Amino acid sequence: MKLSNKIHVFTTVLFVILLVLINVAIYFSFKNMMFRTELDQVKQEAEQVVVGVQENSGATSQSLLRAYVPPQGMLEIVQQNNESDVSVTGGGEDLNDQETEFHEMEVKEVRTMDDTPYGFVAIPIVWSDGEIASLQLTESMEAEAENLELLRVVLLGVTILAFIPLFLSARLLSNVITKPIASLTQTMNSIRTGGTFQRIDTSKRSRDELYHMTETFNKMIDQLEANYTRQEQFVSNASHELKTPLTIIESYLSLLKRRGKNDEALFDESVDAALDEAKRMRELTQQLLLLSKQDEQWNMEWIDHELNDILQSTINAFEKAYERNVLYEATHSVTVKTDEQKVKQLLYIFMDNARKYSEAALAVRLERVEDKARITISDDGIGISKDHLENVFDRFYQVDEARTRASGGYGLGLSLAQELARVLGAEIRLDSDVGKGTTATILLPLSFEGRGDER
Ligand code: ATP
Ligand code: MG
Repeated sequence: MKLSNKIHVFTTVLFVILLVLINVAIYFSFKNMMFRTELDQVKQEAEQVVVGVQENSGATSQSLLRAYVPPQGMLEIVQQNNESDVSVTGGGEDLNDQETEFHEMEVKEVRTMDDTPYGFVAIPIVWSDGEIASLQLTESMEAEAENLELLRVVLLGVTILAFIPLFLSARLLSNVITKPIASLTQTMNSIRTGGTFQRIDTSKRSRDELYHMTETFNKMIDQLEANYTRQEQFVSNASHELKTPLTIIESYLSLLKRRGKNDEALFDESVDAALDEAKRMRELTQQLLLLSKQDEQWNMEWIDHELNDILQSTINAFEKAYERNVLYEATHSVTVKTDEQKVKQLLYIFMDNARKYSEAALAVRLERVEDKARITISDDGIGISKDHLENVFDRFYQVDEARTRASGGYGLGLSLAQELARVLGAEIRLDSDVGKGTTATILLPLSFEGRGDER
């Protein structure tokens, strides 16, 4: 059974049951109330008769009772032997056919004779012979029965009439609920068959749970597409960049195969070159893998760190590895909640560039600016012109291919820096003057709890 039909049938049946229950309750409480009022009235009349009979004690007769008998009713005095002493009817002759029964106590009830309800009241009285008798008044409730019949017809009509809008609105409700689900399924199907990323239009929708479901679906597709694009970019970048070293390795190897056995110098040169390229390829794949990481895979560890310590240890390691002087100055002691390894990686990228594109010592400076830590890494090297400065953060972008190739880069460092800054919540900036030098600035928030569900 389709969901829409289920909702439709369920709501309709539920409402019909409710409606019927309400109407039945109305009918019976109304009937009860009507009969009770009528019985009270019959009882009052009976009490009047009792007063009348007592006032005219001795002269009680058929004619006296006749004065009190209601139309379509019966008034009788029943003796203890269940015999009727006096009996008067006001129209309903067949009431006489009923069996008479003496009631010692007062009785007040509704009796049905030939499908017509009658109010019956019996009151014990002292009869003319001094014996206790039962004065019994029976009065037709035909008018009430007719009213009830009318009420029944009206309620039945209302139930049937209400069923139509109920049926329609349940249909509408089920459509409202299932339509977005159907369009979701349709979109998912066309994504599956067409292999394209599609979103569901939410512009004309009210902001209910289904809207949020669709929104979540769209966001999920956004994320999937972004990840897919990253992977695709990785594959194309990698295959493109790996082509050159592989060609170089291949050509050296074939040279070796042809002439390497006899030529020692050529052998050395080829092996060195192939080894170099292999190393470069390994570095390249590592960098590319980092760049293609999804946010969830960064495994950030947010811990309070003394930034000064991080900088100092990075600089020490750097100085040893490259035998380059770094002038370090910290104006403030700054504690930041951050991921130490990612900050070090970011510093290395800028320091590596400063080292590669300058000759003299580098300068690193740490200070606190409002609620941020500012780290600057300056060199007085060749600098970057304005035109290039706009593009250096792009993947594989290098200002001077020949020069950087000699320095062993791929143009991936700064784009990796940008990714790192993003996951660290940091801002990075490059300022440069051609021939004078470059300054890289990192603004690190003192506390940043990752990017949460921003995307
Ligand atoms: P990789 O970092 O992948 O080893 P790379 O250093 O060439 O290679 P990036 O770090 O992205 O790549 O830098 C991009 C380009 O920006 C570099 O090729 C270089 O031309 C220029 N550049 C970056 N930093 C400096 C700097 N401090 N001085 C001069 N030029 C720079
Ligand atoms: Mg670099």
